[in-house]
Amino acid sequence: MEHDSKEPVAPPPARFEDLGLSDDMLDILEDVGYESPSPIQASFIPLALSGVDCTGQARTGTGKTAAFAIPILETIDPESDVTQALVLCPTRELSEQVANEIMKLRGNRDVRCAVLVGGRPINKQLNELRQGVIVAIGTPGRVIDLLTRRALDLSKLKMVVLDEADRMLDIGFRPDIEKILKRCPESRQTLLLTATLPPPVERLARRYMRDPQGVDLSKDAVVVQTIDQYFCTVDEDRKFGLLVRLLARERPQQALIFTRTKRGADRLFNKFYGRLPNVEAIHGDLPQKQRDRVMQSFRDGKIRMLIATDVVGRGIDVSGISHIINYDVPESCDDYVHRIGRTGRLSSDEPGRAFTFVTRQQGKELTNIEMRINKLLESFHIDGYEPCRDDRRRNGRAASEGSDIASA
Ligand code: AMP
Repeated sequence: MEHDSKEPVAPPPARFEDLGLSDDMLDILEDVGYESPSPIQASFIPLALSGVDCTGQARTGTGKTAAFAIPILETIDPESDVTQALVLCPTRELSEQVANEIMKLRGNRDVRCAVLVGGRPINKQLNELRQGVIVAIGTPGRVIDLLTRRALDLSKLKMVVLDEADRMLDIGFRPDIEKILKRCPESRQTLLLTATLPPPVERLARRYMRDPQGVDLSKDAVVVQTIDQYFCTVDEDRKFGLLVRLLARERPQQALIFTRTKRGADRLFNKFYGRLPNVEAIHGDLPQKQRDRVMQSFRDGKIRMLIATDVVGRGIDVSGISHIINYDVPESCDDYVHRIGRTGRLSSDEPGRAFTFVTRQQGKELTNIEMRINKLLESFHIDGYEPCRDDRRRNGRAASEGSDIASA
């Protein structure tokens, strides 16, 4: 394996010390092992601390939870018992993740948090609220329920966060969110986090936020800093062998492998079928139920390699993805950015890794990608898989591919 001398260009990392945080918070961040802010944190935290309403476009795995959790913890008064911050989330699981992150970052201060979600005993939640909750985190349905029972009082609220606003609107939470926002004091600060910014989310922001300031880190900035990106030059008919060797060498925790077409995804899946366990394919022709099942298994870590087309792969946010493999070069540069944005290894010491297979004829496409992301990909070379014109040598080497698959 060789890397050539092209140096990737990345901006210098930001520092927590420069974001206007209290000394207490800086100590806590050091204790939890966060060395430097992620791009969304570096842009969003100072804006939120200034007190204005803000929208942040960022997906899971980029540190977006701490981007709003830190400003919450810097704004609330832990001495007071009233509810001062409310975080609305689309799902029970996300509500719990958010609560865990806030509890991790509260240090040893007594900032009482409660998770208010459906499908869990309401009596426990009523009890917690009676004892005083400073930060409430929950799904809109249960929050409305608790407001109707007059168990939750939002009249002293300082901050409201709408986390994954696009998903909340997709699920149909809009009427509930509006009802809740109407019960919050006008003086509150509103923060909105979303992976995408479709018109319904923009309308919600316009209607319920005061002159919102936007931070968009859904694309390049996240990509540049957290993912090592390589390209492998290979002949079209030897891509499968290269993939097998690459998987054996890299041993990904989880890999997402992109093909351009649904047929291409099926073809690749069939090559693996019966030879390597924990591989699945997902594309738009599969029934929704099957797609949901595959996605759930991938999220649970039961599937290690998932082959996907662009349309379906775009929606995948799974924090265990360590590797993206572009088995086919993406059709557009934007697709490249979306594809490699799927790795989420911020919490790990290892950055995510992305490999793009290119044939000799696709040099121009590679250059277009490099121009789009303003960064040169490094060449990654596996012995025996350099493109070659000599068919006899090629046929001889192809025979060894079968034995590699067992170690992938
Ligand atoms: P999130 O995008 O909020 O789901 O965060 C993804 C993971 O990154 C979580 O496990 C966080 O605890 C972790 N994390 C958030 N911010 C940082 C940071 N600045 N440095 C290291 N890890 C972080």
